[in-house]
Parts: sequence; structure tokens; C-alpha cells
Amino acid sequence: MKILFDKVGHTIKPFNIDEHGVNFEGKLQKSGYHRLELVGAIKGDVEITCNRCGVSFDSTMESSLKLTISDQIVEDKVDLDIIEFLDGEVDISFILLSEMNTFRSEYHYCDRCDNSDEVFEMEF
Ligand SMILES: [Zn+2]
Repeated sequence: MKILFDKVGHTIKPFNIDEHGVNFEGKLQKSGYHRLELVGAIKGDVEITCNRCGVSFDSTMESSLKLTISDQIVEDKVDLDIIEFLDGEVDISFILLSEMNTFRSEYHYCDRCDNSDEVFEMEF
């Protein structure tokens, strides 16, 4: 799903998408010259890999995010939560997919490895 940068005026533009079983709901609002603010929430099951045994399993991803979006190259990258969309279209799906990738790349243990850790700790 893409939203034209110029279509977001001073009224809030809501969006709600589902991709790969994950829901992304939020709103876009103009926050400055060539700047939009995105506030949203992501919720759904994402397939991840256990960092210990490598098994794949579903984990519920639930996160809220606040991003600044610009349609120009941002020289000053002090604000790390800024995303550039230079073609004038805010790609909501792209944001969701990159958030899901970030979630996947985090450290995860499957239930079995989680439990074996607990057993391990109890032995001491
Ligand atoms: Zn595991």
C-alpha cells in the first residue's frame, strides 16, 4: 500500500493494512515542510528462527512505532527514526516489512530452548 506524500494535508490520514498475517494500523500527518509523522501499531504472528537450535516458529509481534517521513534526502541524520521516500510515495507495506525483518533479526529462543534454560538455572 502506498500513500502519495502530497495527499497528506493537515488532516490526519489513517491507514490499515494486512501483509503476511500481520496488521499495521496507524495514521499519517503532516509535521513540517516535506515532513510527515507516522504513528502506528503492528500486531501479528511472524515466523522467526530460534537463535539456539534453529527451529522456525511463530511469535506474536506487537509494537508501536513513530517515524518521521521525508520526501527529500535528509542531510542531518540526528533523528534516526527518519525514512526517506524520494519518489513522493509513502510505502506503508515497505515500512511494515522492514519492521518485521527487524523483529526477525532480534534474539529469539523457542519455547523448548527457553525451558531448557530454566532447567539449567534450577540445577544450581
Ligand atoms: Zn530453540
